[in-house]
Amino acid sequence: MPLMTPVAASPSSLHLLEHVFGYTAFRGEQAAIVEHVAAGGDALVLMPTGGGKSLCFQIPALMRTGTAVVVSPLIALMQDQVSALREAGVAAAYLNSSQAADESAAVERDLVAGRLDLLYVAPERLLTARLLATLDRLHEAGRIALFAIDEAHCVSQWGHDFRPEYLQLSVLSERFPAVPRIALTATADPETREEIARRLALGDARRFVSSFDRPNIRYRMVDKDNPRAQLLAFIRDDHAGEAGIVYCLSRRKVEETAAWLGEQGIRALPYHAGMAQETRAAHQSRFLREDGIVMVATIAFGMGIDKPDVRFVAHLDLPRSIEGYYQETGRAGRDGLAAQAWMAWGAQDVVQQRRMIDESEGADEFKWRARARLDALVGLVETTGCRRQFLLAHFGEAGEACGNCDNCLEPPRTWDATDAARRALSGVFRTGQRFGAGHVIDVLRGELTDKVRDWKHDQVSTFGIGADLDEKTWRTLFRQLVARGLLAVDHDRHSALTLTDLARPLLRGEAEFALRLAPEKRRAKRSRSTRLDIPDGVPLTLFDRLRAWRAATARERNVPAYVIFHDATLREIALARPATLAELAGISGIGDRKLDAYGADILAEIAREV
Ligand code: ADP
Ligand code: ZN
Repeated sequence: MPLMTPVAASPSSLHLLEHVFGYTAFRGEQAAIVEHVAAGGDALVLMPTGGGKSLCFQIPALMRTGTAVVVSPLIALMQDQVSALREAGVAAAYLNSSQAADESAAVERDLVAGRLDLLYVAPERLLTARLLATLDRLHEAGRIALFAIDEAHCVSQWGHDFRPEYLQLSVLSERFPAVPRIALTATADPETREEIARRLALGDARRFVSSFDRPNIRYRMVDKDNPRAQLLAFIRDDHAGEAGIVYCLSRRKVEETAAWLGEQGIRALPYHAGMAQETRAAHQSRFLREDGIVMVATIAFGMGIDKPDVRFVAHLDLPRSIEGYYQETGRAGRDGLAAQAWMAWGAQDVVQQRRMIDESEGADEFKWRARARLDALVGLVETTGCRRQFLLAHFGEAGEACGNCDNCLEPPRTWDATDAARRALSGVFRTGQRFGAGHVIDVLRGELTDKVRDWKHDQVSTFGIGADLDEKTWRTLFRQLVARGLLAVDHDRHSALTLTDLARPLLRGEAEFALRLAPEKRRAKRSRSTRLDIPDGVPLTLFDRLRAWRAATARERNVPAYVIFHDATLREIALARPATLAELAGISGIGDRKLDAYGADILAEIAREV
């Protein structure tokens, strides 16, 4: 839960916030964290993606004496983070294996000479004897400002981002006891939290847990029907020309979907671990640097992607868990502007994933965990209540219905399928739990097929008790019973259905079973509400010209466009149309350095308006 006592920010942190980063106020717990770390305290920071974790160590880095060392697992992204800081006038550099020897030698010289405010390093680089020895000397001279450990959940062996080198980072507390450490993550679950504290020796660190809500993300889940066409309609109607990520489970599907979207005129690129290293890097770099690219990817893509203007994340396959879903969808809308998390799902997907778990090689504990995670996810897709409430409850946060998810915006129509579900379960039981759905449905509907006759199932008490519902409805019901775990599929016995313990409450009359009615078929209205919120009459052309200017400037300086200015900043400029440098300085996202570097250009663009 957020800390309720506001902590007054010291003048110097506010000064840095305004003049270096161009923002007027700290968000949420930022002020408290900054002051705590600046005063030498250790911190464990849990904040959702887009919450503003970077400033929590960047500002203390500038307030304290010496260089702050930032451990970051993704060398591909360090460069962009460092570029962004340099654009803001901060002395930042990075050391990683992608660098030429003379380049890293120059960085090391700057480090020793005390010319760096922040040094980003890959964990394996930090742990080299050479760099540790250099840091020893700086430490003796009191010139290490702090250690920041970004993406701290990489120490967790249960997570799919596990990085063995992270385990060795506990050495920092032993070797540099006087230096404050701040670990940061957007992973919300309590287990991972404890693991981070334990493995990084941060048991005594003050914890800052922010709300994990991402109010600007709209959650939507649709029944899979023709997923490609549904995806295309979603992109065309809501996100034409905007950047997004489409997640698929398999490499093949990634390739095929990207190619197909390309044929439909969407600028889509594939990304998965099976691609050549250079191609992957090139695609990632285009996604970061160019406007409006759709990345079709396996979950290999995304950690640490700090592109702020990803407008949507789409899932064509079920993620493995709610944690995974939340992390993946969290990559949308880091800039705080409206974004969407969209997923197409079908009960078959659940059945298939359950089968994959059953047939996997893993130990029982692994399977048990995987099943529990999948069940929680099924609860989310099946819920007829607020999705956000469901998600936040999963992370231990209570909240109101949000008004910004599909179920809140268009409450689903449901029918009470309790009685039908009971008949279905009883149908399975009376036929001996040895048959698949097709046969059980025939029996329920009273069809005299050869199989029914052979097995004398026209004699069982459930024969014909379900003639009132058509076959399609029964199919849906059985799929849902399997998806929600009341029935299990025995793949070794010709997909025979068996009852599970979860079926008991329903059979005893202690539980109800509601089914979503299929939404009425109608052309989805083009919803403009998710487009960036531009009030009528705003000079769009100015915004477009500012974007073109930004693209040219970014190319010239060889940095991603958002490193120059975020969309939100350009938008505010287009709205406010400042006439002087002083007015321009009041826009959020313009610090002193950027005002100097670009202020005149921007005022010229505005003045060109007729
Ligand atoms: P995280 O690392 O938690 O995902 P970032 O540090 O990348 O988040 O910040 C997300 C976005 O919010 C960035 O674009 C950042 O510039 C912006 N931001 C952070 N703090 C503030 C603030 N106090 N005021 C305005 N914008 C902020
Ligand atoms: Zn809601």
